[in-house]
Amino acid sequence: MNAGSAGVARGVGDPDRPLPEHSGAGTATAPGRAPAELAWGWATDTGRRRASNEDAVLADRTVFFVADGMGGHGGGDVASRTVLTEMAALAGRDEVTAADCAGAVRAAAGAIGAIDSGDRRPAGTTLSGTLVTCSDGVPYWLVVNVGDSRTYLWRGDRLDQITVDHSAVREMLDAGEITAAEARTHPERNVITRAVGGGMEPRADVWMVPRRPGDVLVVCSDGVTGEIDDDEVAALIRDAPDPGSLARSLVTAAVERGGRDNASVVVVAVAGEADEDCDVTQDLPRTESSGSKRAHDDQEDRR
Ligand code: MN
Repeated sequence: MNAGSAGVARGVGDPDRPLPEHSGAGTATAPGRAPAELAWGWATDTGRRRASNEDAVLADRTVFFVADGMGGHGGGDVASRTVLTEMAALAGRDEVTAADCAGAVRAAAGAIGAIDSGDRRPAGTTLSGTLVTCSDGVPYWLVVNVGDSRTYLWRGDRLDQITVDHSAVREMLDAGEITAAEARTHPERNVITRAVGGGMEPRADVWMVPRRPGDVLVVCSDGVTGEIDDDEVAALIRDAPDPGSLARSLVTAAVERGGRDNASVVVVAVAGEADEDCDVTQDLPRTESSGSKRAHDDQEDRR
């Protein structure tokens, strides 16, 4: 780690400034036959190397997302805010479908396509997170992903990554060309294979995951998961007293570990205790798209 090198960006040089730069928290009652109390928290920080924060976060009643504007493209900050503005329009509705999400992502891609990125590559962004929704009164997480931000489910002391990264290293891992350890330092670890905008087809993966008491969903930009691994994420979840504290501790850990990228987290938790004998594998994952997850599963079945 060469922290403090000549690459330290202007405006973020103060090692004593509070971490994270921005954070918040809230509560709401989730839709469904039986009312469920939700609590959420979020945090975001520019980190120690970047000049500006091109991540954006959204936490509002039933919509919880992180978007990460593509580096090396112009207008990344505008792109990440634009896709979250579209998702925010779905907030507060009892029932939202996979088709509603796909429509919002397509609308965002259209708006992002109109952003002037200067003479650089077209603006684009990742999108990951969840809608809190119901189908016929049955509670669900409607998890949405495009790109390499991640949505995890914490249930019964177990952490699962619901989303599948749309990234070059994920494809190399699946093909058996590199190991997980090599993926963390691979020169192409920031290359994504899907985005909203960025000159790519806006194809979202969507999962319907039954929503249960005690569930905690954790959404992270790659500036977090690039600095701390899943075991460290799980340890911080286990110790956190509430979603706001958890979001702050994850972002703070990523920045203190190196802060090579913007770091953002949104956490949403359902009140109550996880069922003692819940089997999370029964709920994970049930893809609603014909995207890479299905192809990935088929590939695993063959090995
Ligand atoms: Mn990033």
